[in-house]
Amino acid sequence: MKFLLLLLVVIGAVAWLAIGRRRPPGGASRDGAAPPAPPPKAAASAGPQAIVACAHCDVHLPAADALRDAADRPYCSEAHRQAGPRRTG
Ligand SMILES: [Zn+2]
Repeated sequence: MKFLLLLLVVIGAVAWLAIGRRRPPGGASRDGAAPPAPPPKAAASAGPQAIVACAHCDVHLPAADALRDAADRPYCSEAHRQAGPRRTG
């Protein structure tokens, strides 16, 4: 029974690849000057990312995802931004 399921999965994967490789007929683009590649929202491989620590709970997160307060301190979330920096002492 498990073998049958595995076989179905393999067949599905092969069919999916075959359909994905097939191009629709009547393509208007002859020269591949500019391939249509929309930039992903979250560029994972766009180089090194700056990591900052939340001023409240000290969790590390990408600087692009950090929320900043008036003093430009990074926070991991809106709740921590409103809570403010962690008190020391
Ligand atoms: Zn935090």
